Amino acid sequence: MKLIFLGPPGAGKGTLAGLVSKEYDIPQISTGDIFRDAIKRETELGKKVKEIVGRGDLVPDDLTVSLVRERLGQPDAQGGYILDGFPRTIPQAAALEAFQSMDAVVNFTISDETVIGRLSGREVCKSCGAIYHVKNMPSKVKGICDKCGGALYTRPDDTLESITNRLEIYKKQTEPLVSYYRKKKLLRDIDSSKSPEDTLLQIRKVLGKPK
Ligand SMILES: [Zn+2]
Repeated sequence: MKLIFLGPPGAGKGTLAGLVSKEYDIPQISTGDIFRDAIKRETELGKKVKEIVGRGDLVPDDLTVSLVRERLGQPDAQGGYILDGFPRTIPQAAALEAFQSMDAVVNFTISDETVIGRLSGREVCKSCGAIYHVKNMPSKVKGICDKCGGALYTRPDDTLESITNRLEIYKKQTEPLVSYYRKKKLLRDIDSSKSPEDTLLQIRKVLGKPK
């Protein structure tokens, strides 16, 4: 099963990709992981990415597509995969289509208010990376990690201003993909405003049982 996961920040795309990956026994492939892996293995493309990221620039479409293509050619991706965070733009989607055909595009829907509520209260442990939420999942002692006693902090990405900004970028850049895939009859809307378990149930209904 070849899948693309689409959704705004805070929709729980990464968490759900992890759950679906396990259940359907297909790898979860994100561009971030592909970049890190290529840099680590010091491939030709990896060297280019390292230089671009090091300058603080965005990796251009053609290079991203080449890396994704290389990754999808690996043995573990032959039985299917979940693309998480790619494609982000129509040109990327068109480039992908030239060498892979998808079975479905899962579109996680969630309101801006819910995203803001989720992300704005998020706290992360400095030592072990555990994630808390001031309202939905508070630590027992304010500002202290339950698991390791480390200090909790708010990521710069999770301030209200930054969240609003990320939502705007998503709408401008990635939302056109929603109508693009809807026209191709590949889009499956999934309401991800409730728990990951609830969202997974909906995905099972839409995609069918794993083989
Ligand atoms: Zn901790």
